[in-house]
Amino acid sequence: MAIDEDYHATFEKVDTYEGENQPIQIWAKDQGSYEGIGSDKLGIWGTVVGVDFDLCVADGACIDACPVEVFEWIDTPNSSESDKKAIMIREDECIICRACESVCPVEAVLITED
Ligand code: SF4
Repeated sequence: MAIDEDYHATFEKVDTYEGENQPIQIWAKDQGSYEGIGSDKLGIWGTVVGVDFDLCVADGACIDACPVEVFEWIDTPNSSESDKKAIMIREDECIICRACESVCPVEAVLITED
């Protein structure tokens, strides 16, 4: 399973997380599909740089691939896939090169231009 390419249209905005320069939008199918950090229901994080945290296996390829250091690790205890995720903490600095999208082994990343 890959990240839902229609999530901007079909998912709800359920929460935000403080990024380095701007808030990171968190999306989920519905309010019941999101319980936040510490749970196994994390949804999709980011709008331009979208990462499905319920798919992310913390491979780290996106972190290594990004030329402008958009990503950092964030601890996500109790997630069934991995206990840390690549958060787009500097999402506003993304240059839309799509390197992260192409290297993710579980297709958890979707880049969307404004
Ligand atoms: S598209 Fe490129 S610049 Fe943007 S987060 Fe991915 S690797 Fe970084």
